[in-house]
Amino acid sequence: MSAVLATSGLHAGYGNIEVLHDVAVALDAGTLCAIVGANGAGKTTLLMTLAGIHRTRSGTVTFDGRDVTHAPSHARVRAGLVLVPEGRRMLPAMSVEENLLVAAAVRGAEGNALIPDLFSRFPILRTRRNVAAGSLSGGEQQMLAIARALAIGPKALLLDEPSMGLAPKLVDEIFTIVADERARGTSILLVEQNARRALALADRAYVMERGRIVLSGTGAELATHHEVVAAYLGG
Ligand code: ATP
Repeated sequence: MSAVLATSGLHAGYGNIEVLHDVAVALDAGTLCAIVGANGAGKTTLLMTLAGIHRTRSGTVTFDGRDVTHAPSHARVRAGLVLVPEGRRMLPAMSVEENLLVAAAVRGAEGNALIPDLFSRFPILRTRRNVAAGSLSGGEQQMLAIARALAIGPKALLLDEPSMGLAPKLVDEIFTIVADERARGTSILLVEQNARRALALADRAYVMERGRIVLSGTGAELATHHEVVAAYLGG
């Protein structure tokens, strides 16, 4: 299987502090890859670096057969590499529908055609289509953040803690949407505190500790690995 997104020897950090050390990860086309690890391990920094929001110090990032190590974030988005950041950033004064239209505009005229499909996949957003995004509940905002990324029509989706802070029923809905998006052929890199759910869904997974990849395997292998069970699955 070929990787749609891969890093090799990746280093990144803030000021004098190096946070990512020699990180090599690969996301195979059409699969879901999970990255689990404790708070502060560097997972968000990795996603921001992949998205081009945070600068790579050394190493390479390849996406869809091209070296994008130094490509600006907007060029990566246009190429189909789309981040759903932690914290659900959106345009709070605009309506739900306007938020989706702004995202779809990245694809030009064909983008708008995706909106009806998104409303059928996210019925709660159709109900709230004319409401200002800033007044949505936390769960609705997370749905909108994901729907906005899908409106861009991504080849690869980078999801940062999509279930964080949500009630169990909404967590289920988010994981259903993520699984459905993979079934549609989108490659997904998922960072999750909910390691159990993430590993259950993952084709491949990595454990990150203090900025390094310390374990990798299939989701099933890592879900039963004694170190993973002890550290991340409450075993
Ligand atoms: P979390 O789940 O808490 O977001 P994480 O695994 O995503 O954790 P990062 O947010 O990538 O980890 O943080 C990795 C390290 O980088 C931490 O030590 C953090 O303190 C540091 N860090 C993150 N953002 C900054 C920043 N803007 N400036 C300086 N240091 C930062």
